[in-house]
Amino acid sequence: IFAAVEMAPRDPILGLNEAFNADTRATKVNLGVGVYYDDNGKIPLLGAVKAAEKARLEAMPARGYQPIEGLAAYNNAVQALLFGKDSALIANGQVITVEALGGTGALKVGADYLKRLNPDATVYISDPSWENHRALFESAGFPVDTYPYYDAATGGANFAGMKAKLESLPAGSIIVLHACCHNPTGADITDAQWEEVVAVCRAKGLVAFLDMAYQGFADGIDADAVAVRAFSASGLQFFVSSSFSKSFSLYGERVGALSIVTASKEESARVLSQVKRVVRTNYSNPPTHGGAVVAAVLSSPELRQQWEDELAGMRVRIREMRKGLAERLAARGVTRDLSFVTRQRGMFSYTGLSAGQVEVLKNEFGIYAVSTGRICVAALNSKNIDYVADALATVMKA
Ligand code: PMP
Repeated sequence: IFAAVEMAPRDPILGLNEAFNADTRATKVNLGVGVYYDDNGKIPLLGAVKAAEKARLEAMPARGYQPIEGLAAYNNAVQALLFGKDSALIANGQVITVEALGGTGALKVGADYLKRLNPDATVYISDPSWENHRALFESAGFPVDTYPYYDAATGGANFAGMKAKLESLPAGSIIVLHACCHNPTGADITDAQWEEVVAVCRAKGLVAFLDMAYQGFADGIDADAVAVRAFSASGLQFFVSSSFSKSFSLYGERVGALSIVTASKEESARVLSQVKRVVRTNYSNPPTHGGAVVAAVLSSPELRQQWEDELAGMRVRIREMRKGLAERLAARGVTRDLSFVTRQRGMFSYTGLSAGQVEVLKNEFGIYAVSTGRICVAALNSKNIDYVADALATVMKA
C-alpha cells in the first residue's frame, strides 16, 4: 500500500535544526528557531511553572479524562488574559473557550469548525506569514490566498496595501491576523490601524481569526491584547487562537486555547456544542498537565505576579538584544538604516538578508537563519551577540 508514496517536503525550519545539530563548529549559532532562549542559551523553566508543578506533583492527582472543552479554570483564565478580566463579553456569556493542543491545535479546531460553518469561504493570510497558517487552513479544505503585509523598504507593515486588499474581499472571507509580534517579520500595525481593520471587517462582513501566540512579548499582557480588545468592542463575532508555548515556556506541553465571540449567551451554547463535536472526533479531550499548571499559576496572586515578572524579563532581554544588535552593526560600519531592528517586536526580525547571504552565514560562520532572512532575536545572548554582529556586518557589507 505504500509503494507509490512520495516523500513529503521537509519542514524548512525543522530541517534547519537538523543541519545545525550536525554542525561541529563550537561557535555555531541557531537563529532559525522560534523559541526563547535565556542569556545562557537555554530554554528557561519558569520559577512560577516550577512551583505550580511541584505542588501538582505533591498532590498526586488522579488522571481522569478532562471535559471535551478542557479545564474550566484554565479556560476562564485564558479569557481574562485575552479579553480583560472586566470584559462585558465574558460577563454576558458571549465568549466560549476550549483548551487546545497549543496555538496550532487551536487554529486547527477553529479551521475545521469554520469549514463546517462557512464551507465556500476563502482564507486570507498575511504575506508573509507563519508557514503553518497556509498548510493548516488548506488541510481543513479552504483555498488560501494572501493580503499584502510587509514593506521591505521600511521594515514595517504595509498598512495601505493590507487595508486596500481587505476592502476588496467578498463578504464571508476569513482573514487570519497576527494579534501581536508578527511572525516572521516582527512588524506590527498600530492601535489606530487595528481600529481601521475592525471597521473594514464590519463594513465588508469579513470573519476575523486572530492568532495570539506571543501575548506579553511586545509591551505587556494588556497592551499586547489591543487587537482582541478592538474586536471585542466592535460587536462583531470573531475567533481567537492563543498559546502559552512562549509566554510560559511550555512548548512541549502543548497548551493553547480557541476562543470564539458570539452574539449572545444562547448562541454561545449552540456554537460550543458544535466545536465540541470537532474536538471529540479529533482527539476527544485535551491532556491534563499543561493546562492545570497554567491555571494554577494564573489563579494564585503570588505565582501570577512571579510569572508576569519572568515574562517581563524575557521581553526586556529581547529588547536589549535588538538594541545591542543594531548598535553593534552600526559600530561595524553597516550604513543601512537599522532602526527597524528595534522597532520590530517579539521574537523575530526580518533582516532583509537574501537567501544567498543566509547561505554564506551558514557556510562560513555556522550561523543558521531562515532563508527568508528571518532571525530569532531571542536566540541572541551576551556571549554570541558580538560573533553574530561580526558575521552579519561582514555579509551585509560584502
Ligand atoms: N501562530 C504563530 C504565529 C506562531 O508563531 C506559532 C508558533 N511558532 C503558533 C501559532 C503555534 O504555537 P504552538 O507552538 O503553541 O502550537
